[in-house]
Amino acid sequence: MLRVDDVTTRYGAVVALRGVSVDVAEGELVAVVGPNGAGKTTLLNTIAGLLKPAVGRVVLGGVDVTGAEPATLVRAGFALVPEHRRIFRDLTVAENLALAGITVGTAERRRRLDEARQRFEVLARKWDTAAGYLSGGEAQQLAVARALMSRPRVLALDEPTLGLAPVMIDVVFEVLADLHAQGHTILVVEQNARRALALADRGYVLRTGRVTASDTGAALGARDDLFGAFIGDGDVSVAPPS
Ligand code: ATP
Repeated sequence: MLRVDDVTTRYGAVVALRGVSVDVAEGELVAVVGPNGAGKTTLLNTIAGLLKPAVGRVVLGGVDVTGAEPATLVRAGFALVPEHRRIFRDLTVAENLALAGITVGTAERRRRLDEARQRFEVLARKWDTAAGYLSGGEAQQLAVARALMSRPRVLALDEPTLGLAPVMIDVVFEVLADLHAQGHTILVVEQNARRALALADRGYVLRTGRVTASDTGAALGARDDLFGAFIGDGDVSVAPPS
């Protein structure tokens, strides 16, 4: 469904991704894990058309979308839940979602809004509340619901649990598990590596812009050599502890 093929992305002289290849099959949940600065956000932004790769290709549903504009990517079926969520704090939950459904007709938009209400019970309760009043976990659910308004073929999430309270981290992982069980195709990048890998069909470890390991989520999660005692149990270490 989504193929990132040998992609190199630079910020001027800084090479943030070097020859990275990642595949996501239809219905799969794939996790990309790695420490700060590994290139996880750069990878998603490259797929989303926010950054142009210097080398390599991005193929979505068999169509080469390398370097396409973000709006083209959305039309092609890619939706990104960005880091820090970027919801409109002054608009209500309903308005944030309606805005995301602006490109479809009124009846279809209403159907999608109803679906979001049913799927995210917490959003239904706060439907007319300004998004700025939501907790971090609620805002993250709104960001996911907003991404689903475009009926994406691939849903990508950038660090969805970043900065959340432990109980909300559980909620976000439950949402991901539910979406996966319903057949959504999901690419998630996370620093919360063990949790993300436990959920994932397959995973990739990214370090300083390169894929250094890839396997089933369960197999990567069981590799203690990937996890550094100094950084924390969830994080993939930059260097082995000495
Ligand atoms: P984090 O979890 O901290 O967001 P990440 O794995 O998402 O890390 P990226 O944000 O993709 O990593 O950064 C990858 C590399 O590119 C880092 O070395 C970072 O310093 C560099 N980088 C990121 N954004 C820019 C930029 N706008 N200009 C120059 N270098 C950048």
